[in-house]
Amino acid sequence: MSKQIKVALIGNPNTGKTSVFNALTGLKQKVGNYPGVTVDKKEGICKLSRGVKAYILDLPGTYSLNASSVDENVVIELLLNKNDKDFPDVAVVVTDVENLKRNLLLFTQIKDLKIPTILVINMSDVMSRKGISLDIPALEAQLQTKIALVSTRKNKGIALLKSLIEDYKSLAITACIDTSSIDSAYFERLQKAFPNQDVYKLWLVITQDVNFGTVARRTLDVSKFQTKSITELKRLQQKEAIKRYQFINGVLKVGQVIDRTKAKDLRSKLDRVLTHKVGGYFIFFAILLLIFQAIYDWATVPMDLIDTTFASLAEWIKKALPNGGMLTDLLAEGIVSGIGGVVIFIPQIAFLFLFISILEESGYMSRVVFLMDRIMRRFGISGKSVVPLISGTACAIPAVMATRNIENWKERLITILVIPFTTCAARLPVYLIIIALVIPEGHFLGFNYQALTLMLLYLIGFAMAILSAYVLDRVMKTERKTFFVVEMPNYKFPLLKNVAITVIEKTKTFVLEAGKIILAISIILWVMASFGPGEKFNNAEAIVSQESPDILEVDLQDKIAAYRLEHSYIGIVGKTIEPLIKPLGYDWKIGIGLVASFAAREVFVGTLATIYSVGSASENEGIDTIKTKMSNERYSDGSKVFTFASGISLLLFYAFAMQCMSTLAIVKRETKSWKWPIIQLFSMSIIAYLFALVAFQILK
Ligand code: GDP
Ligand code: MG
Repeated sequence: MSKQIKVALIGNPNTGKTSVFNALTGLKQKVGNYPGVTVDKKEGICKLSRGVKAYILDLPGTYSLNASSVDENVVIELLLNKNDKDFPDVAVVVTDVENLKRNLLLFTQIKDLKIPTILVINMSDVMSRKGISLDIPALEAQLQTKIALVSTRKNKGIALLKSLIEDYKSLAITACIDTSSIDSAYFERLQKAFPNQDVYKLWLVITQDVNFGTVARRTLDVSKFQTKSITELKRLQQKEAIKRYQFINGVLKVGQVIDRTKAKDLRSKLDRVLTHKVGGYFIFFAILLLIFQAIYDWATVPMDLIDTTFASLAEWIKKALPNGGMLTDLLAEGIVSGIGGVVIFIPQIAFLFLFISILEESGYMSRVVFLMDRIMRRFGISGKSVVPLISGTACAIPAVMATRNIENWKERLITILVIPFTTCAARLPVYLIIIALVIPEGHFLGFNYQALTLMLLYLIGFAMAILSAYVLDRVMKTERKTFFVVEMPNYKFPLLKNVAITVIEKTKTFVLEAGKIILAISIILWVMASFGPGEKFNNAEAIVSQESPDILEVDLQDKIAAYRLEHSYIGIVGKTIEPLIKPLGYDWKIGIGLVASFAAREVFVGTLATIYSVGSASENEGIDTIKTKMSNERYSDGSKVFTFASGISLLLFYAFAMQCMSTLAIVKRETKSWKWPIIQLFSMSIIAYLFALVAFQILK
C-alpha cells in the first residue's frame, strides 16, 4: 500500500508558491511577478521516497487568515473545514526571505490552528546581495517548526523540503501565541459553548463571518455567539495582529541579521526613478509608445509572408480542384480567406503578449500598479484594478477573473463593468486593417502615424474605462474604502522560458478560440452570400444583361456578382440595417461585418474578406489581399467607402462596443446575475453608436 500525504502550499502573494509547486511536482503553471495570478486551487503529485506520494495543492495568495477577499476566502474555508477532501495533513507556508516579518504573520496563524506546518524561506539566492543572514537552527527553535531554506531559481533546498514533508509526523504541534489572552473572558465563554472545538478556530470562524457577512457556514454554526459588535470584533482582530508582530519581532531579533548598507541598493534607486510622481508616468508612456512602434515595424516581415502564402494557397485550391464546384468555392473563398484574415495578425498579437509578459516578469508591472493607484483612487477604483485593466489588453475574460483579488465588492464590480473598454487582442486585427486603410504612412517627430493612432486607440479605451468607473462610482451607493497593498517584487531579468511559454499559450488560445468562431461564421456567411431568395438572386445574369446590354464582358461579370451579393440572404440583412448605420458612414457590406461581429469582434476582418472575395468574379485575378480589396471598394457614385471619416467612425465603434459573447458569459458568472452583462451590452453599444455618429458627421 502506498501512503499519500496531502500538502497545502500557502503564503502571501508573490512569495513563490507556484514556483515551489512547479519544483515539487514538475508541472508547469504560469508564474507571475505580480499579485493575482493563481486564482483557483491547483493540484499536482510529488513522488517522495519508498513509494510515498504527496498531493500538492497550490492556493491563491493570502495575507492573513482574516479574509478580506474572495481569493483569501478559498484558503480559510479549506483550513477551517477538517471534512474538506483537500484538508491538508501538513501545511507548507512559503515566505520570501526579504519580507520575512510580514510573511510570518500568516505562518503563526496557521500554526495556531494546530495544523502541522513547515516553513519554506524562499529566494535564498538574493540573501548575500541583500546582506541578509539567517540562523536557521535558532529560527527553528523559536518557531518550533522545521525550516527549508529554498531557492527555486537555483533549484536549492527542494530535496530537503521533500524529506521534511515525508517526516511531517515529527513536527511539533504547538501554538505560537496564546490567543485567549486577546480577551480572556470572551474566549473562555467561547470555549465553554463549544468544548470540543479549538478556540482559535472558533475565533476565526466568527471573524470570518464578520468580514464576509453572509458566507454560508457549513463547518460550524456560531450565529448564536455573535455577542460582540462588529467594531469590537475588529478591534480584537487588530489586537491579535499586534500580538503576533510582537512575537515575530522577538523571533527575528534572535534569528535574522540584515546589513542595512547593502539593502539600499540598485532596487531602491530604480524604484525612485520608475515610480517618480512625474518621471514615472513619462517613462511608462514612453515604454508604451515603444511597444506600439515595435508592433508595427517588426511584425511587417512575417505578416507579408503569411499574406502571400494564403493568397497562393487560395489560388492553388482553385486550380487543383474542379473548377466552379461548390466545394472549391467554399474552400477558396469562404474558409481560406476567412482564416487567412486572422492568421495574418498572429505576429502582431504575439509581439504584444511578448512585451506584456516581459513587463510582468521583470517586476516593472507592479510599479505601474503602484503608480496608477494615485490616479485610480480618484475614479472609484484602486491600483489593483490596474492589473485587470492591463490584462484586458490581452483578453477581457482572464481580466474579469483577475478582479477576484479586489477586496471591495463595489470596486470589483466597477472594474468588471469597465474592463471591456480596454483594447483587447480581438480588436487589434480590426484596428490594424482600418488604420492601414485610412491613416497615411508618414512620420511625425520620428514616430510612425499609424503607430501613434494605435496607441491613441489604446489610450481612448483606458480613458473611457476610467471615465465610466468615475460615473459608476458616483451613481452606485458608496461603501467603505479599502487599503491598498501591492507587492513590490525585485527587479529581475525575465526568464526567457517563462516569457516564451506565456507568448505561446496566449497566442495559441487566442487563435484557437477565435479560429473556431471565425471558421463557423465564415462558412455561415459564405452560404448566406452564395444563396438568396426569389427571382432577383436566381436570375441575376438575365436581369443585369438586360439592364445594360452594351457592357464589356469583364464588367458584366463583376456587375452580376455584385447584383447577386446584394440580393443574397446576407445582402438582405446588411440592407435592412443600412438606414441605421448610414449616418455612421457605413454601407451594407460593413453592416454585415458589424452584425457578424456582435458575437466576437475579431470576426469582422474575416467577414469582410469573405464578402469581398465573393463579390469579385474575375477568375484570373486570384484572391487579392484584403487590404487592396477594401481600399478599392466604392459606392455607386464612385466615392470611396473607406475614407478618413468612415474609418475613424469604425475605429471608435469598435473601441466602445460590447461585441463579445464570451465576456458577457464570464461577467454573468462572476457577478452571478444577468443584470450586469445586460447593462454592459446596452450601454456600451449606445456609447459606441453615439461616438461613431458624431465622429463621422464632423469629419465627413
Ligand atoms: P506566487 O504568487 O506565490 O505563486 O509566486 P510565483 O511562483 O508566481 O513567483 C513570484 C515571483 O518570484 C516570480 O517572478 C518568480 O520568478 C520569482 N521567484 C520565485 N522563486 C524565486 C527564487 O527562488 N529566487 C528568486 N530570485 N526569485 C524567485
Ligand atoms: Mg501563484
